[in-house]
Amino acid sequence: TKEDVKSYLFRNAFVLLTVTAVIVGTILGFALRPYRMSYREVKYFSFPGELLMRMLQMLVLPLIISSLVTGMAALDSKASGKMGMRAVVYYMTTTIIAVVIGIIIVIIIHPGKGTKENMHREGKIVRVTAADAFLDLIRNMFPPNLVEACFKQFKTNYEMRSFKVPIQANETLVGAVINNVSEAMETLTRITEELVPVPGSVNGVNALGLVVFSMCFGFVIGNMKEQGQALREFFDSLNEAIMRLVAVIMWYAPVGILFLIAGKIVEMEDMGVIGGQLAMYTVTVIVGLLIHAVIVLPLLYFLVTRKNPWVFIGGLLQALVTALGTSSSSATLPITFKCLEENNCVDKRITRFVLPVGATINMDGTALYEALAAIFIAQVNNFELNFGQIITISITATAASIGAAGIPQAGLVTMVIVLTSVGLPTDDITLIIAVDWFLDRLRTTTNVLGDSLGAGIVEHLSRHELKNRDVEMGNSVIEE
Ligand code: ASP
Repeated sequence: TKEDVKSYLFRNAFVLLTVTAVIVGTILGFALRPYRMSYREVKYFSFPGELLMRMLQMLVLPLIISSLVTGMAALDSKASGKMGMRAVVYYMTTTIIAVVIGIIIVIIIHPGKGTKENMHREGKIVRVTAADAFLDLIRNMFPPNLVEACFKQFKTNYEMRSFKVPIQANETLVGAVINNVSEAMETLTRITEELVPVPGSVNGVNALGLVVFSMCFGFVIGNMKEQGQALREFFDSLNEAIMRLVAVIMWYAPVGILFLIAGKIVEMEDMGVIGGQLAMYTVTVIVGLLIHAVIVLPLLYFLVTRKNPWVFIGGLLQALVTALGTSSSSATLPITFKCLEENNCVDKRITRFVLPVGATINMDGTALYEALAAIFIAQVNNFELNFGQIITISITATAASIGAAGIPQAGLVTMVIVLTSVGLPTDDITLIIAVDWFLDRLRTTTNVLGDSLGAGIVEHLSRHELKNRDVEMGNSVIEE
């Protein structure tokens, strides 16, 4: 009936709006490309998108802290230990599967035929050694100053970490000064804006450190009986308040996504620079990510829970599209929470506990991509990898995906770890930069999908603990 249609439309309004936003954004972007907007015009044009990014990022920090603290405090230590183990086993298994898929696909398709001499290069990369990057990762788990950990982390321990994502080769400062002074200023801001923050940090914030701290803190106040009551209630209501803000932002999200996508399409490089090898590489990454996201993860979800994965994924649509639009799994986190809790009715004790950790360390798409990209770079260098080196690549790709922050193109930066581990030239990252903005969106979507299905799986495996806890606390137990 008419009423049914109306209520159906209302319930799915977000999904419909978001999907429309992607389609309209893409069309608008291509329609405006012939006008060749300047850097400044593109900035103005994508402003509504930039606002969405900022709004989401604004919520990430209090969201991570309040959800992890309440999540940990709501569970007894045995239950949280078990759930934590399950989550970690899930993260590791899926990440390793992703890496293996990446390796097999790139070996079979072999996109790196020929030499790198005929490949287009963009910019220049400063070297960071693998050991430095590893130590940094651990270092950042323990921020010496919690308040400072909440601010931009551009200051670095090493000089060489003033690592630049390259500006476009034809846009050197000197050239720009000659042509146009205001453009030179823009280029300058662009360089400073694109200084890459430390590993494990989100939007310049040391997320990994805050995750570790919040978990320990939540664990402690969960065990504090009456004395912890005030803190538990404080974080609980903080979390509730943030989620209400998320609900407001969700209405704005489709507008933001539309302009994020359109803006990116307007400013992207002409396809001319994408030679045969790079095109094949792009296809290879897409195939790998699709296998992982469309076959492996849903199958795993089905095998564990015996529920229809597509229904679950349907409920995640807005989060997935937001990931595609923002290319940041951290910025998407607020929306992921909403989708899982409201559409898929995943227990809050699970989402609060599993999602912030997942968004920080579980990145299947990034892991797959890093292993694949490293082998691609070996191929264009005609560098024969032996079995031991391939194992090294899988281990370092896993570590690099853990260390990558959930921000745009972080995976490109942590790739240095993978390349140096087998002696490949890190400068060759510049070979794949031209297509990275696009692949980044796809791997971010895969990352968010992996985190979300993981929450569903961990919830299913932990149903007994959750029920026992409900009985213990005198909550009404809902039978399955
Ligand atoms: N952008 C990705 C994310 O936020 C990380 C990456 O660059 O691979 O999940």
